[in-house]
Amino acid sequence: QSTRQGLDWPRAQALMQREREHFAAHHPQSLALSKRADRHLLYGVPLHWMIDWSTPFSLFVASAQGAGFCDVDGHEYVDFCLGDTGAMFGHAPGPVAAAVAAQTAKGFTTMLPSEDAAIVGELLAARFGLPFWQFAMTATDANRFVIRWARAVTGRSKILVFNGCYHGTADDVFVDLVAGQPVQRASLLGQVYDLTRHTVVVEFNDLDALEAALQQGDIACVLAEPAMTNIGMVLPQPGFWAAAQQLIQRHGALLVIDETHTISTGPGGYCRAHDLRPDLFVLGKPIGGGVPCAVYGFTESVAARMRKAKSEAPPGHSGIGTTLTANMLAMAAIRANLESVMTNAAYQHMFSLAEHLATGLRGAIQQAGLPWCVTQVGARTEFQFTPTPPRNGTEADATLDDELEHILHLYLLNRGVLITPFHNMMLVCPDTTMADVDRLVGQFSSCLETLT
Ligand code: PMP
Repeated sequence: QSTRQGLDWPRAQALMQREREHFAAHHPQSLALSKRADRHLLYGVPLHWMIDWSTPFSLFVASAQGAGFCDVDGHEYVDFCLGDTGAMFGHAPGPVAAAVAAQTAKGFTTMLPSEDAAIVGELLAARFGLPFWQFAMTATDANRFVIRWARAVTGRSKILVFNGCYHGTADDVFVDLVAGQPVQRASLLGQVYDLTRHTVVVEFNDLDALEAALQQGDIACVLAEPAMTNIGMVLPQPGFWAAAQQLIQRHGALLVIDETHTISTGPGGYCRAHDLRPDLFVLGKPIGGGVPCAVYGFTESVAARMRKAKSEAPPGHSGIGTTLTANMLAMAAIRANLESVMTNAAYQHMFSLAEHLATGLRGAIQQAGLPWCVTQVGARTEFQFTPTPPRNGTEADATLDDELEHILHLYLLNRGVLITPFHNMMLVCPDTTMADVDRLVGQFSSCLETLT
């Protein structure tokens, strides 16, 4: 095969070989740490996905600050991955670092609320327009808890998700549509329950399929990102959410919007920017400026139904919550982040840089004559190996190309630019500069030039 995604494929493979050799030669400290870690960490990393990057062995980080980080060999990088959104507001943002440092002198965790809890509740309600809130350690956990609550308050057993979604490792969501049939995701490890019994999956942007599923009357909630971001990007078609919300409401299901990635849209998320009115709202990753924590909000009516469900259940374990949840460090971090980091001014800066990035990438793609496109959700930008943006998970999945992604990612990494390892997502943060963006676009452009 001599061309792939419009590129000279033998040349791309030869480039990958050179880039791997270059990386290996220039990262002796990372290599030494990889070997050392290999003795006691599975695959030599603390989380097995950490070997899924494009590098031949793991890149070890020495420090991260603002829009960049430094590796243990002393190389500096501009970071457009930003912890896959955990550091969307920059690494160790000053106000969060200061609040956490101050809190460390006053204790970490007590399983009791601190003063910050009341203030954070007010800040969340004002910003996102939902009156009631609860907390979790991760977006995964928040989704897990929200699914439990939705089932508890509706008395219905099923949830509905969109094909190709990702909402963390909450088990219920891992059902795909394969040739129109729901199938448990084959890659799951150790999953012994039949997830297709309680999870319904339809294509994003397919109102007929959504309606047909809701008509069964057994869907507790629809759990969705407002724009899909985890299979490349898939934007909602005009009018999709207005119609979908009406259907969901008419059939007595709850709408849960997971804004963990789409918070890139604006300070109040996609929901505020596009007037979506979810019953429950989930936000993890960057809500504490990178300190582990997550939040979920809900309407007055859902809160009343939660109280009722709880009061009717026998005393004992609810299956919702964890010991460290809403600990004092996390609450101090969320407060500082909401008050001083996730500001309108920060977003304005991010929007203008993301716009500049998208324009630059489109220019480079056009210059190289490639059938690719660029999609944007506020501060989040993605290039995709297709001339027109995909409309659903099946179309998006068909455009993914792991091998090519690795080549592009490693080329950029070897030149001091990091983007997200899975698909082609780039985030800008309040500390990213125009020069950083120009560097990414310039390197991307030279890579395409080499391969066309
Ligand atoms: N929801 C969405 C939309 C996500 O993209 C992710 C992670 N990529 C999660 C939830 C889970 O986040 P975490 O891994 O921090 O639990």
